[in-house]
Amino acid sequence: MDASSIIRKTAIDLRLAPNLADYERERARFFWPVAGRELAGLPGGALNIAWEAVGRHARGPLRDKIAYRFLARDRPVRSLTYEKLAELSSRFCQVLRLLGVKKGERLFILAGRIPELYLAVLGGLQNGTVVSPLFSAFGPEPIATRVNLGEGRVLVTTDALYERKIAKWRDGMPTLKHVLLVAEEEGGRTDVAGTLDLATLMAQAPGECDTAPTAADDMALLHFTSGTTGTPKGAVHVHGAVATHWATGKYALDLHDEDVFWCTADPGWVTGTSYGIVAPLLHGVTSVVDREEFDAERWYGILQDEKVSVWYTAPTAIRMLMKAGADIVKKYAFPGLRFVASVGEPLNPEAVLWGKEVLGLPIHDNWWQTETGGIMIANTPAFDIKPGSMGRPLPGIEAAIVERREGGSVKLVETPGKEGELALKAGWPSMFRGYLNNEERYRKSFSGEWYLTGDLATRDADGYYWFVGRADDVIKSAGHLIGPFEVESALMEHAAVAEAGVIGKPDPVVGEVVKAFVSLKKGFEESEALRMELLGHARKRLGAAVAPKEIAFLPSLPRTRSGKIMRRLLKARELGLPEGDISTLEAGG
Ligand code: ATP
Ligand code: MG
Repeated sequence: MDASSIIRKTAIDLRLAPNLADYERERARFFWPVAGRELAGLPGGALNIAWEAVGRHARGPLRDKIAYRFLARDRPVRSLTYEKLAELSSRFCQVLRLLGVKKGERLFILAGRIPELYLAVLGGLQNGTVVSPLFSAFGPEPIATRVNLGEGRVLVTTDALYERKIAKWRDGMPTLKHVLLVAEEEGGRTDVAGTLDLATLMAQAPGECDTAPTAADDMALLHFTSGTTGTPKGAVHVHGAVATHWATGKYALDLHDEDVFWCTADPGWVTGTSYGIVAPLLHGVTSVVDREEFDAERWYGILQDEKVSVWYTAPTAIRMLMKAGADIVKKYAFPGLRFVASVGEPLNPEAVLWGKEVLGLPIHDNWWQTETGGIMIANTPAFDIKPGSMGRPLPGIEAAIVERREGGSVKLVETPGKEGELALKAGWPSMFRGYLNNEERYRKSFSGEWYLTGDLATRDADGYYWFVGRADDVIKSAGHLIGPFEVESALMEHAAVAEAGVIGKPDPVVGEVVKAFVSLKKGFEESEALRMELLGHARKRLGAAVAPKEIAFLPSLPRTRSGKIMRRLLKARELGLPEGDISTLEAGG
């Protein structure tokens, strides 16, 4: 990357004084136990996410502030103040107690982004119950697998989802004792045999409830990974994670009191819980939640009408907005938008720059995983962006590039720009504490004090981290190691390309050849001439050794429900191999 492409921040980029102004100083003085003192805590040293997120606010100066604005098509906006949210969560918590659901038992939630999903997460945590939100679009099989793996005792779902995805499969989920139904639409049927009507139970329950005195190490949330590289893993998270949610909400998302925050992720993906629920509530800001699926016009409309100031989204959404073209956006204005961040996949430099051009703000990439529970590496508001870089480790996070050695030890890679596995020094509060039923795999992801992420990256001389690819996706061709991201980003620079997914295709001579799958932007047609042009463009940008040898056009690329390109599926299809676990594949992929 040449220095001219660095996006330098000016006063105009910073409408508010950033929470993280002096990176080195803040990192040097940051200490998790001190950060933890920002949390209220409960008597006797107990710590509970729900108390930090809503309970304490409902009794303090934020009581009347709007915590959530729930949006849905053809429906009025439903706003909940912190006080009301605490009351409803408490009612839900009382319902669990009435049913005899205890601390540590598992609650699954299968619902769209409706208010009940949010208050069930909070009320469940308040009760000390372990909560696991699932994507509502999952089919019966992936639901049952997860409920069984997590030994779900209670399920909150809607009448429509129950009928379509649970009723016939319920015998296959023997641990499930209670199903609490919410009407999907007004007047929906919730008097279904074998289930309980949540609204009735909540109406009868007291609106006050003490908070379970959970310990920082008590299990709080169970999140399944996205299934991008294989079968999803169930990552165990604890109440103490809340310290990371607080610190990252402050530093990486730069939340300020008056912000209107929109995290577009569904709570079925860890981002939608850590940053769609916990972090914004901790900071007492107002969040917007939209029940509908992606739609370019709708999304621009929400940014404008809801006066969103901090927006946290994902590369796939940004690429879809880019694909929809620049004309739509001209109809909208976002004068209050001041910070945009993205997570989930590498953010192509093209997308960072698109933000600057179209939204007037660059997009800030950040990196983390289900396993890390919160943002670890980030581009924060005050700092210059090197497009294509994930940024730098946040205060309290020590990252390194390492090489695995024979026998399980690791060696630190100190040379700037040299590739290796991204590792994090174990011990940050939101670190996962296990993979459900897979102790072996958990153990293997650590080497001494380092947690090994499975992602390959480099660090430059300024301490910025650059994503190369997942260890599983890296292509070995004629002695070169090729990261798919680099190739995809080069293709994305071409005006016709909306998205690109790159795989290694076995080849008897060079080991693997690079093959790219691309989908085109609106207004472009696939043709042999365009294919040749793209091959030529990539060769010029990357050199013959790294450029794809083959390019195929697809209307869209297969994606996980969290929006990640599934390269393993592109590869399996290309090679005619079994597709493996496709439980998280988005419909139509
Ligand atoms: P599985 O582990 O089941 O294959 P997954 O790794 O996609 O799924 P998540 O935990 O949702 O499940 O995703 C974390 C991964 O997403 C990271 O390890 C990394 O590969 C990728 N990722 C997330 N953010 C970024 C980013 N900013 N840049 C590059 N890659 C990212
Ligand atoms: Mg993973």
